Amino acid sequence: MNLVLTGPPGAGKGTQCRRLVEKYGLTHLSSGDILRVEMNAGTELGELAKKYIDQGQLVPDEIVIKMMVGAIVKSGYNYLLDGFPRTSNQALQLDKSLEGDLSVEAVIVLEVADERVIDRLSRRRICPVCSRVYDDLSLRPIRDGHCDSDGALLVQRSDDKPDVIKKRLETYHERTAPVIEYYEKTGVKMAKIDGSLNVDQVASGVSAFVESLSI
Ligand SMILES: [Zn+2]
Repeated sequence: MNLVLTGPPGAGKGTQCRRLVEKYGLTHLSSGDILRVEMNAGTELGELAKKYIDQGQLVPDEIVIKMMVGAIVKSGYNYLLDGFPRTSNQALQLDKSLEGDLSVEAVIVLEVADERVIDRLSRRRICPVCSRVYDDLSLRPIRDGHCDSDGALLVQRSDDKPDVIKKRLETYHERTAPVIEYYEKTGVKMAKIDGSLNVDQVASGVSAFVESLSI
């Protein structure tokens, strides 16, 4: 199966992606990871993307789509898209670029209310030494405020400050929420799952949907 997982920042997409990959052997195609790999490898697309990023601009859809389609063709059937498509135009262009076995089959939306996202992300802390992420949802430190592996004092990422989270949510509603409307119109199979529940409850909702696809 070929899946798209989407939802606002702080919806727990990363955790659910890991579980899906483990359980169903999907190839995890994260747009952020793929972009980094292309830039580090200095590919033509990577170099192009880097120019925009260095200027603090968004990487244009055209480049992102080429990169992701390339990754999908390379991985073949049975992939999970994470962080892409991020706009309805990307979703449309993706559909136009993929055929048969490689087409998107189903979309999983993790839904979380804005207030909940702000609350969740503003309590998130990261270890400056090993980059491990702690939050109330998936991992709480054994000793409050300190990393379990190295004892370092946990810090808040600048991205997780309430004002920045509000900006990220605005961008999500403006640019990414229309992706869901796009897929609703195309009639692809879709599950909207309450992402405010705990990790295991969300995961069982996701699994129930995925298993309903293969029947
Ligand atoms: Zn650490």
